[in-house]
Amino acid sequence: MEKAEFSAIIDYLNRNWNKPWEVEEEMVKLLYQSKIPRLIELGRTAIPTEYGPMTYIVFGDYATGKEYDVAIFGNFTGKKLRDYNYPLVRVHSSCRTSELFHADNCECRQELDFALKQMSKEKKGILIYLNQEGGGNGIKAKLTAYNNTFGLKKGIVIVKKDKKGRQLNVYDGYEKAGYKSEHRDFDPAAAILKTLGINSVRLMTNNPNKIEGLASKGIKVKPFGIHIKPTNGIMRKHLITKAKKLGHSITNKDLN
Ligand SMILES: [Zn+2]
Repeated sequence: MEKAEFSAIIDYLNRNWNKPWEVEEEMVKLLYQSKIPRLIELGRTAIPTEYGPMTYIVFGDYATGKEYDVAIFGNFTGKKLRDYNYPLVRVHSSCRTSELFHADNCECRQELDFALKQMSKEKKGILIYLNQEGGGNGIKAKLTAYNNTFGLKKGIVIVKKDKKGRQLNVYDGYEKAGYKSEHRDFDPAAAILKTLGINSVRLMTNNPNKIEGLASKGIKVKPFGIHIKPTNGIMRKHLITKAKKLGHSITNKDLN
């Protein structure tokens, strides 16, 4: 490989880790011009899970090089879910710290578990798992933001404070590092739903941006509230900040 080509790849990867949304925007434009569909189904299979039987589908995204996981509850064997009128749907963004390592500064793992249990109960539902870490800013941004927010003191994780002595939150951490608090893109989720033949959903969320994100792409959305009780003080503050800063519908009842 020529050195220039190699440098171009390194440059691409750096931009992808630093600013994934910029790469995505450019790629979406190119795909549109080339009339190439953004998503491709990589495969599907039935899997037994503790939540019950699922059809597991993985889509690849040409714009980001990412993979998106989809879990479908119900006796689904065809290509399209035509009889799924307003099914329960959760569009969940990956949070490796919470879901893999059970970090308890945010509620992501509990939300995922709640959604899967609810779908299992109804024996119908679609969970779309979007690989977009750190509020869409990428895992590199998340590490920086968390490092701006948390520290280790005598073996205990502490929340850092600003000059006025106010405890910081992860959104402060993102902004300090030059990122937006919310940079997620719900277009792939809308595209996945349309590919599956779904035009209406009961969306499990308290996030107005997510409702708007799907509605703007022609999906009819009925909100289905999702309420997670915080398990500790850091998570509680995180939920309060989320409500104030991003307009999530989280009430006092949810917090206590
Ligand atoms: Zn999280």
